[in-house]
Order: sequence, then C-alpha cells, then structure tokens
Amino acid sequence: MSAVPDRSDGPNGDRRLLRGWGRTAPATSTVLAPESEAAVRSAVLDAGEHGVIARGLGRSYGDPAQNAGGSVIDATARSGIVDIDLRSGVATILAGTSLDDLMRWLVPLGWFVPVTPGTRIVTVGGAIASDIHGKNHHLKGSWCNHVLSMRLLDGHGEVRDLSPERDPEVFWATAGGMGLTGIVLDATVQLQAIGSSRLVVDSDRAADLDAVMAMMVDGDEDYDYSVAWIDVMARGGHLGRSVLDRGRFATRDEVLASGDRRPTDYATHMLPSLPDLFPSGLVNRLSVKAFNELWFRKAPERRRDALMSIEAFFHPLDMVGDWNRVYGQRGFIQWQYVVPDESSDFVRRSLERISGAGLPSFLSVLKRMGPANPGHLSFPISGWTLTIDIPVAAGLDELFDDLDREVLDAGGRLYLAKDSRVRPELLGGMYPRLDEWRDVRERVDPHHRFRSDMGRRLGLV
Ligand SMILES: Cc1cc2nc3c(=O)[nH]c(=O)nc-3n(C[C@H](O)[C@H](O)[C@H](O)COP(=O)(O)OP(=O)(O)OC[C@H]3O[C@@H](n4cnc5c(N)ncnc54)[C@H](O)[C@@H]3O)c2cc1C
Repeated sequence: MSAVPDRSDGPNGDRRLLRGWGRTAPATSTVLAPESEAAVRSAVLDAGEHGVIARGLGRSYGDPAQNAGGSVIDATARSGIVDIDLRSGVATILAGTSLDDLMRWLVPLGWFVPVTPGTRIVTVGGAIASDIHGKNHHLKGSWCNHVLSMRLLDGHGEVRDLSPERDPEVFWATAGGMGLTGIVLDATVQLQAIGSSRLVVDSDRAADLDAVMAMMVDGDEDYDYSVAWIDVMARGGHLGRSVLDRGRFATRDEVLASGDRRPTDYATHMLPSLPDLFPSGLVNRLSVKAFNELWFRKAPERRRDALMSIEAFFHPLDMVGDWNRVYGQRGFIQWQYVVPDESSDFVRRSLERISGAGLPSFLSVLKRMGPANPGHLSFPISGWTLTIDIPVAAGLDELFDDLDREVLDAGGRLYLAKDSRVRPELLGGMYPRLDEWRDVRERVDPHHRFRSDMGRRLGLV
C-alpha cells in the first residue's frame, strides 16, 4: 500500500504533486522510495538545499508530509515485521508498515496495536511522528508510550538507537516531532493482548452537551475505549447532542457464547474509492443537517453489550476509500484542540461559536484525554479533545484565528497532525517546550536537512 501512486524506483525520484488528507495545499516534491537503509541514508545526505521529509500514508490533514521543491521519502517502501515474540507481544516493525497490515497479521494471533486512530491507513512512522492517540488515551496514553525503542536516521546520516532510557531527549523530540528530527527506520513496540477480534460496546444517545460530558467523566474508569459523535449543527437546548460509544475487547468466551464460532477472525470491507468528481459545495448546511439528523436518530437511545467488529467500532470511515474527495478540489480543514479539565466550559463556547456560524460539519468527535507524556510536541494533555471537519469556505480564517487564541487562553493546544492553518506566533504558547525541542533538533540535524511545508509554515525549522 503506497501513499504515492506510480512509485518510481529511479535513483533521482519522480516529481509529484502531494497533498495532505484535507487536500488544501498541494505542492510538488521529488519522491524517492528507498528500500534499503543505505538508500535512505543517501536520500537524506544527497537532498539538495530544500531538504527532505518522510511521508507515510498521507493521512495527516495539512502539509507535514510534503516538501515543495525538495525531496520526500516514501517510507512505505520499507514495510514488514522484522521480529516478534508472540508470548510477550513485543514486535520490531519497519516504519513504513501500515496499521492495516499489522491488524491483518496480528489480530488472528491475539495481538492488537496499543493505540489506533480513527483510520487504520497510517504507518508506524506516521504514528510516531504525530504521537497519535485513540479512544483509549484516558487510560493508555498515546502511541509513543508503547514504543520501547526506535532507530532514527538523523541529519548527520547516523543511525541512533533511541529509547525512553537511552537518548531520551531525542526519543521524545521524535515522538510528535512531525518527521523533523529524522527518518524513523523501525520501532520496537509493546502490542496489546486481545481475547477476540470483537468489542463489547455500550451506546447512549445524549440530549445535550452537559449530558454527554457527565457520562464521559463518570465512565472514565469503566471503559477502555470511549468516543462521542457530536451533532455540531444542533443549537440552543440541543447544543452538543451526541451519540456516545464506549467499549472493551470481548473475551473469546463471550464471542463463542454469542454463537460466533470464529472469535479471532479479522475482516475489513472497503467499498470502491469515491471518484474525484465532486463539486466543492456539495458538503453544505442542508446536506449535513439532514445527514446529522439521520445519524442521531438511527443510533439506539440506550444499548448495552453489543458485539462489534474492530472495523465497525474503530474505523467506520475506512469503509469508503478516498472519502475526502467528497469535499471537492477546495478540500476541507480539520480543527482539533485539547483543553485541560479546568477549561471544560470552552467545549461549550467553541461549539456555540461553530454551530452559531452554521458551519456544516458531520465529523465531529469528543474524546477524553489522560496525562501527557514527555514528548516536547506531543499533543495530548489531560482533558477534552474536540475534532471538527469543515469544508474550506470564505470567512473560516477569521473565526478559527479567534478560536485558536481562545484555545491558547484556555491552556490548550491544536493538533499538528490535523493542522493546515494555525498562526505560527501561537505555537510557542500552545507548546511551551518548543524551544527545547528546537535545541534537540539543532543537535541531531545541524544542517537542517529535514524540512517540510509545515516546518516552513510554522517556523519550526
Ligand atoms: C480519517 C482519519 C482519522 C484520524 N484519526 C486520528 C485519531 O483518532 N487520532 C490521531 O492521533 N490521529 C488521527 N488521524 C491522523 C493520523 O493518525 C496522523 O496524521 C498520522 O500521522 C498519519 O500517518 P501517515 O502514515 O499517514 O503519515 P503522513 O501523514 O504521511 O505523515 C505524517 C507525519 O509523519 C512523518 N513521518 C511519516 N513516516 C515517517 C518516518 N518513517 N520517519 C519519520 N517521520 C515520518 C511525516 O514526515 C509527517 O510529519 C486521523 C486521520 C484521518 C485521515
């Protein structure tokens, strides 16, 4: 599976137009697909003045995995499991391996990734560089909390063996460092043991924001996974009405008792990709309002102990290939913030502003987050994270510039893996250890070989 169609094996790469999942800022880069470590090293050391950046499966929304005028390393050229201990669940995995492949190989053997985002079409390298989180952050932390060690090719062309104990500063600068400390070659990860490939899920409809937030706080300790879908178009007394899904992996016996004789079977269903033909205005107030109404009403008011597949619970969006095309050529932005518990009233304020502006969004998700890890640029902190997808339209910048400042005032931050537009001057406030990160980066990449459009846009490099 490659993020870059028509991969070139030529030594000088191919020039390609690359974009993030939000499709907002396409840029042409020279794409190389080195298959050996020596070839990765040459690609880094031979990169010209515009530098080089790694790209996984291109699921970050903005511009971190592209490099206008420079080189991009298609990391998916190096994929597979190097070593695995099936008793302890410790696996060494090449960084270009997708979580999709890992699940197909490992779930039937009783192992699952420790953290999965809302899509399984991401690589291990992308998971590290964004320090991704899932529906279990409140209990299990983010991806890099489960990385025992990783090997990083730095800007000197040297391979560093990193772990939280060995070279911890570079380890944590790479966790969430958006590829700007080097190329992750492989990682040794502690997998999670599972008894089956099904989840036991409780679903509740919540009439408004207070109701859903109260349920989530109450259930923090009771459920391994928790996520609320919020109808952002609902206003007034219905503001924040939601469908809350919470669950845990089922045991083998629970699945057998349901009559299913194949408790560890793992299957996915991908419909054909959407064609790239949609006009940019298709996702609008009317279409989204109707969709959201339907989604809310089709959800059970209260359901207990439903057995669901991994795909249905974690990755429903993956069933439609290239669904981002529905937003047309102008694309869409995703706005994701986290604020600490003491600023939980900001969740209401932000929803009021967004629903008041009548912005059409059918992908809005509220999750709880647990304590931060030592990653300098890692996104999660204890509190609430809200995610909203919005088609690009006039006037968005003013509203979101304003909201970004409020996030900062609330002690929160935006998620770089989703960002395509935050003002660089806000970043230092949101990520107070940014200068410390810059110092580490300077040490591992003094010649500034690792560069990306995001790095330039935000003044990271
Ligand atoms: C539908 C959808 C749902 C999502 N849900 C979530 C969610 O629930 N939680 C969450 O945290 N994220 C979520 N994401 C975001 C996604 O998990 C991250 O953007 C992730 O980094 C994408 O991985 P990728 O392999 O596609 O990397 P890319 O998007 O290709 O690259 C992302 C970053 O990783 C760097 N990188 C990639 N490979 C390497 C490597 N080998 N070495 C060094 N750097 C590397 C790139 O330089 C870039 O900075 C979601 C995205 C989508 C599209």
